[in-house]
Amino acid sequence: MIVALAGGVGGARLAVGLAAALPPRALTIVVNTGDDFEHLGLAISPDLDTVMYKLAGIENAQTGWGRAGETWNCMDALAQLGGETWFRLGDKDLAVHLLRTQALRQGKPLSEITRMLATQLGIKHEIVPMSDSPVHTQVRTASGVLSFQDYFVRRQCRPRVRGFRFAGARTAQVPPLLQKIIGSGKVKSVLICPSNPYVSVAPILSVPAIRAWIDARDFPVVAVSPIVGNVALKGPAAKMMRELGSEASALGIARHYGGRVDGWVIDRQDARLAHAIENTGRSVLVTDTVMSNRARSTRLAKKVVDFAQALARRSK
Ligand code: GDP
Ligand code: CA
Repeated sequence: MIVALAGGVGGARLAVGLAAALPPRALTIVVNTGDDFEHLGLAISPDLDTVMYKLAGIENAQTGWGRAGETWNCMDALAQLGGETWFRLGDKDLAVHLLRTQALRQGKPLSEITRMLATQLGIKHEIVPMSDSPVHTQVRTASGVLSFQDYFVRRQCRPRVRGFRFAGARTAQVPPLLQKIIGSGKVKSVLICPSNPYVSVAPILSVPAIRAWIDARDFPVVAVSPIVGNVALKGPAAKMMRELGSEASALGIARHYGGRVDGWVIDRQDARLAHAIENTGRSVLVTDTVMSNRARSTRLAKKVVDFAQALARRSK
């Protein structure tokens, strides 16, 4: 069993490759829920949906969020009525939020609802939210503490970041399936997808049971750098690193994770940094990490799995 930790776009890109490379019983994808929020009375789980839509092959490849072939009738009608439209929800996408909200109100756990939605979309691999209880990412900025979507969507990541809080993490309820996997002793490696370290991966690691499990591991943790050639392919990861005083590079990312990661997968463009990362005590694999299509995702996923297996054998 391999466990992958994923945020949205970068997470989904590797997850879809892993799902092509591994049978369903050999892979569990644990997804960030720190971005989750309620909007227009609906329960929205942006990263879960990005991963789910990608694995179902119905994602919007242009935006990186939402579904392909969307229509916007509801948003248009909402605008006409003077409703809030800063967070865009397509008509098809809305169906997911309606069902999720209804099921949550009926008392069903998010993990069960996610499995139901994924199954309906024909997904065979297990997608598990990091928590069944709400965890809210908050961004500390020069303009005060902002909720994640306020910072990310409404203010388009403009405020300078000073740090992050994950409200609810301490008492997060780890989904039963994830608890079972953690206790099973059967996990061969944990893969950290190339997701934003601060607002996608850190919230997952802020859940005490997940963090404790990884810190006490007898398996390797392998991470794919989300920074390629000193930039983030999408989103504010590089900007956040600079604002927090880190170098926005694969080396900066490796330093950020420190001893939590045993093996790094970095892009060919960053090959010159391999030695410096190795000097911090980590193993490094240099390869193409830009997953511009499914074939590239699968190719990278296979390499990451092989690398993790080699590390696991070495530590035996
Ligand atoms: P979000 O939740 O949608 O913001 O997405 P994530 O946190 O999962 O991913 C954002 C990160 O993914 C950014 O730092 C990007 O640089 C990185 N990323 C996106 N696509 C790729 C890719 O193809 N390769 C690599 N190495 N990183 C990627
Ligand atoms: Ca996200």
